[in-house]
Amino acid sequence: MTQVNLYALSYPVTALGPGKRLALWVAGCGKRCPGCISPEMQSPDSGKKLEVETLLSHISRIPMELDGLTISGGEPFDQPEAIVELLEGIRSRFPQWNIILYSGYTLLTLRKRHRAVQKILKLIDVLIDGPFRRENPSIHPLTGSGNQHLRYLTPRGKDLKSNMDKIPFNQANLGMGPGKMKMIIGILDPLARESVHKSLGIHGEVGINE
Ligand code: SF4
Repeated sequence: MTQVNLYALSYPVTALGPGKRLALWVAGCGKRCPGCISPEMQSPDSGKKLEVETLLSHISRIPMELDGLTISGGEPFDQPEAIVELLEGIRSRFPQWNIILYSGYTLLTLRKRHRAVQKILKLIDVLIDGPFRRENPSIHPLTGSGNQHLRYLTPRGKDLKSNMDKIPFNQANLGMGPGKMKMIIGILDPLARESVHKSLGIHGEVGINE
């Protein structure tokens, strides 16, 4: 039985891809990018470990129709076996869903890695890749910085492109993180992020998800 280290789950999310989505954040990332927009998820201890099958059963009971899944974190490729099992379960239970995944690794780097990583690349439709670089401002509503790219890996992914490009800049949803902590979901530039945090009274280490 494989366990996944999960930080949070939220739905319906409209700020991390087209349509109404399930967003799932994993805990743990060793990259430590300066200015990381989800520092609260860097420690593996920030998450909760649970069986992938338990998570899939929970997802199957979501009482609404969704269009797809976005996985972020944290670094999904730091727990590849769990993500493969999760994605295989999603593909068999929700064949109509499209799948977007954020990673701090570039596609080029991932292509050279082991088998589980290659399986993930075959199971997702769009990879948004590369580490967050705060000195390089984003030019797309779904990337955190300008060095990151949207990699359309499947025909279904390519069909999403025009809708991905139409997501408004600084779109955000409000969700709940661990301990019912308020969580801003979406890609916001630093000014927009600060203003949303102020208006919601969010202080400290609560970040915007990558
Ligand atoms: S920005 Fe992303 S890749 Fe970089 S440290 Fe934060 S979670 Fe990891």
